[in-house]
Amino acid sequence: MSIKTYSAKTQSTLSLSKNFTVSDFICKDGTDITPIDSTLVQMLQQIHDHFNKPVTITSGYRTISYNAKIGGESDSLHCKGMAADIQVTDVNPLDVCKYCMSAGFKGIGYYNASNGNITHIDTRTEACYWQRIDGKYIYYTAQNTPFAVPVVKPVVTPTKPVVTPKPTPKPVIKPTPKPLPQLRVGAKLSVSTNKVFPTLTSTKSSRILPLIGNYDVLAIKNGKILIGKGKVPTGYIVSGYKVIG
Ligand SMILES: [Zn+2]
Repeated sequence: MSIKTYSAKTQSTLSLSKNFTVSDFICKDGTDITPIDSTLVQMLQQIHDHFNKPVTITSGYRTISYNAKIGGESDSLHCKGMAADIQVTDVNPLDVCKYCMSAGFKGIGYYNASNGNITHIDTRTEACYWQRIDGKYIYYTAQNTPFAVPVVKPVVTPTKPVVTPKPTPKPVIKPTPKPLPQLRVGAKLSVSTNKVFPTLTSTKSSRILPLIGNYDVLAIKNGKILIGKGKVPTGYIVSGYKVIG
């Protein structure tokens, strides 16, 4: 911000930028002294360059008395040479507001006025956005301002999800049960272990069978072997034997 004071009488044709002169800013009450913020001139030139259309300043600098006369806000930045109301030829003032927002300007107002809609801009550094619709002011934050241009999200083509191949489970190798030696009734059996056979269904109840020794195979039923000494059954066994004859 750099506010310089110019003379309407002697400097009105002084060029402030490519497209703006002092005359664009002078107070409409004919006051000679005309303060103008150079930042404001830059912003206006930026708007001009963006739209490449003439930018008309409908109200630039205002003396306090002139500002009061036209019903401006008492603390109007117009009275400091820091604000301008503008119309851009053939451009909707709301679109001008949106551009100003995208350009990072902090003071932006939209007015629907009887003499045509206008855009107000100023060089404040704290964000303030507003609209004056039918004489009523509505203020906005950067989050809810209607001047914000909606961000168009790029259409994302969904990519195929990377399919991680499931590891092939290692086949569980079941140990092949050793086949029982083939038995037949009448075979001779040598039993080498003493075991508890809780599922024994035998002529004798479950217990540790003193089986070590040689037996006769008396019967084979459901994988169980009925053994005995001579014709006397001893019990069923399922392992720990070998056929000896
Ligand atoms: Zn204004």
